[in-house]
Amino acid sequence: MQAAGAVFKLLQGRGEDKPEDLLLTRDEVLTWLKEEEEWRLSFLWEEADRVRKEHVGDEVHLRGLIELSSYCRRDCHYCGIRGSRKIERYRMTEVEVMECVRTAVRLECGTVVLQSGEDPGLSRDFVTRLVRRIKAETPLAITLSLGERTLEELAEWRGAGADRFLLKHETSDPELFRRIHPDCGGEVSDRVALLRAAKALGYECGSGVMVGIPGQTFESLADDIMLFRDLDLEMIGCGPFVAHPDTPLGQSRVQSPESQVPASDVMTTKVVALTRLVCPDANIPSTTALATVNRERGRELGLERGANVWMPNLTPLKYRAMYEIYPGKAKVIDTAEVFHQSLLATLERIGRRPGKGPGGRRHPAAG
Ligand code: SAM
Repeated sequence: MQAAGAVFKLLQGRGEDKPEDLLLTRDEVLTWLKEEEEWRLSFLWEEADRVRKEHVGDEVHLRGLIELSSYCRRDCHYCGIRGSRKIERYRMTEVEVMECVRTAVRLECGTVVLQSGEDPGLSRDFVTRLVRRIKAETPLAITLSLGERTLEELAEWRGAGADRFLLKHETSDPELFRRIHPDCGGEVSDRVALLRAAKALGYECGSGVMVGIPGQTFESLADDIMLFRDLDLEMIGCGPFVAHPDTPLGQSRVQSPESQVPASDVMTTKVVALTRLVCPDANIPSTTALATVNRERGRELGLERGANVWMPNLTPLKYRAMYEIYPGKAKVIDTAEVFHQSLLATLERIGRRPGKGPGGRRHPAAG
């Protein structure tokens, strides 16, 4: 073990007697979440980077994000495309989506992420056809991030060839979740149950949280990180909560500032780093929200503190402003190609390289 790793272990109050056991306990995670001393945090960053390198290597997997539709039947209190907002909306055609898919192939993304509001207009048949077509015409892996869809739909899409299912549980605090994410259509929302069901269908599953949701405590955030481990997730995405002024949560006041988790870049990278230590083999993106709260260095900080995935936005420019889940969603003006160039330059600067192929989770047993 390198010197930094040894110091990290000592900072936890662990002796040399458990040299390989660096999987953190919930109490240790909580202590790190509250840590503010920069010199101590520097050991957390180093340890997360070391574990990232050891378990998932220097490749940064590119997942091309295609935001298919901004229609949404839900009314989440945090989200700028919540159904009750009177905003201009769009839904892409199959031809438009396939155009973006071809861009993904050209830019050597191993995966496309099909994301949208929870839009019944994206019918089961439409998505099935799209998945079949992408699988037939490209070597790409497909991640579905279409919200809470039925088990029948998920089963059909898996059968059509979809590889991954992404649904953030946002917070493991049930009371907070219900407050910010109202049930819909008479059905109670249970995202964790849906993730478990998707796993049983054979999907690689991804979840994640927003960091700094008004009302979120350090304790519940520690629970979130432990839940990542319990769920044995393949992908874990954590970004800061970014207040949208036209949403209930964007206008709310924090009730207990002393126990409130800050929605900052440092706090988010603490979560990224701790997630890497708790789930060493997971694919972890450096998120757009992190790049939005720290435009200069957000992306890099994520990658230097445990992340190994980057999600270039391939949505056509004419639709980007209509998918405004929060204000200032990083650089709406960049085309996929421009973004790609800056991405390659950043990777080179920090000594990393773009991943090849779909970049699924590397299971320890598989080597
Ligand atoms: N409808 C799907 C769903 O709910 O999973 C996918 C689209 S949703 C817009 C994707 C993610 O955006 C959510 O999981 C949430 O974490 C994030 N998001 C929405 N509003 C946000 C905000 N104000 N700040 C940060 N992230 C936000």
